[in-house]
Amino acid sequence: MAAASGSTAIIGGGIVGVALARALTARGDRVTVFEKEARLAEHQTGHNSGVVHAGLYYKPGSLKATLCAAGRASIREFCEEKGLPFRAVGKLVVAVDESELEALAEIERRSIENGVPDLARIDDVERLREIEPHVAGVAAVHSPQTAVVDYASITEALAQDVRSGGGEIRLGHEVTGIRLEAGRVRVTTPISDDVFDRMIVCAGLQSDVVARLVGADPSPKILPFRGEYWELAPERTDLVQGMIYPVPDPRFPFLGVHFTRGVYDNVHVGPNAVPALAREGYSWLQWSVKDTWESLRWPGAWPLAQQHWRMGVDEISGSLIKPLYFRKAQRFIPELRSSDLAHKHGAGVRAQAWGRAGELLDDFAVDQVGPVTLLRNAPSPAATSSIAIAEYVIEHYLAKAAA
Ligand SMILES: Cc1cc2nc3c(=O)[nH]c(=O)nc-3n(C[C@H](O)[C@H](O)[C@H](O)COP(=O)(O)OP(=O)(O)OC[C@H]3O[C@@H](n4cnc5c(N)ncnc54)[C@H](O)[C@@H]3O)c2cc1C
Repeated sequence: MAAASGSTAIIGGGIVGVALARALTARGDRVTVFEKEARLAEHQTGHNSGVVHAGLYYKPGSLKATLCAAGRASIREFCEEKGLPFRAVGKLVVAVDESELEALAEIERRSIENGVPDLARIDDVERLREIEPHVAGVAAVHSPQTAVVDYASITEALAQDVRSGGGEIRLGHEVTGIRLEAGRVRVTTPISDDVFDRMIVCAGLQSDVVARLVGADPSPKILPFRGEYWELAPERTDLVQGMIYPVPDPRFPFLGVHFTRGVYDNVHVGPNAVPALAREGYSWLQWSVKDTWESLRWPGAWPLAQQHWRMGVDEISGSLIKPLYFRKAQRFIPELRSSDLAHKHGAGVRAQAWGRAGELLDDFAVDQVGPVTLLRNAPSPAATSSIAIAEYVIEHYLAKAAA
């Protein structure tokens, strides 16, 4: 990796921004992180499934595939070093019936190409039941090394390294102005005004808004997709030993409602994927006229709606009508009862980038405008990949910007 030097502003105190700050601080750069909220990890990083993905799904050779593989090893090492929980509870991707076997075979093929460790194909229902005694299915792919962690704690621990290495983290600092000045960059918040040698934007749900402040292309835009969770009643968590995932629909960038035994032994079910009515809209009651209007008038809105409306209606119905959500979950665990979904367990909003033609961007995406590096698409598995994304950005963008 290239050595860094000079002063760097990082916009965004999620796991990606803080991992970048830590990597730069370790190289002697003077780093300042700007986070608009009063604490770190307040958005995607603190509202996700907590899974350290092993790389089953991603197109071989893509950034997601390579950075997920590198990132999962780094997250594991970091958790070991800091004494943070990391539990390899394992994941089963289950084909419930024969119609899903072809898609399951594609997941298996990709997993092998991506070097997923200890992967096993399971065609024997008895073996399936040894791993997950309550699951129903005809076949599965098992990834025993898929793990769970607490990404908010990891972000705090990364931030400790930034501070002890001399970096500064400014909470409650929303960046509202960015100006390029003679190869440097002026960063303004309502309470500060500073000039840096360069800036990296890791603003998640706001990444297109901040990109516009820099004068970058408004495409890709961020489409916020909320994922809602239910929690299994404590006396029923023995229905799930690790993780039970569906075979994902390849036309859609999300993995489908799944069961996850979290790092604190609670079991959550979800997330679904419904359009959020605000970038930071964690329920149907949080509605931003501005965000919704911006999404509706985006050129890609109509093509996207035409392509995915059926899926949209299905997901929205499941969000509003519990028995529909429950039915999706019960396909995998026939013993599940509606009352086992004890209560809603919060939600996260995914920052999904979409282009002018309505296409949802699949891979991680980075742009460069003068001294500013912009992460334009960092959806799942970006938490898993965060430490590797930091190394990739430094190697491929900051080194070039400095040259
Ligand atoms: C429901 C859900 C489930 C997921 N499950 C997983 C999973 O199991 N495993 C996995 O690897 N990934 C998962 N992901 C994806 C993962 O959470 C994200 O990819 C990752 O957290 C992205 O980190 P980030 O730092 O880029 O963004 P964020 O965590 O969203 O951080 C961006 C930060 O920028 C700040 N910001 C924005 N604008 C400004 C501004 N103008 N000034 C100052 N600060 C600003 C925001 O306040 C925010 O804190 C999931 C995501 C969701 C939503």
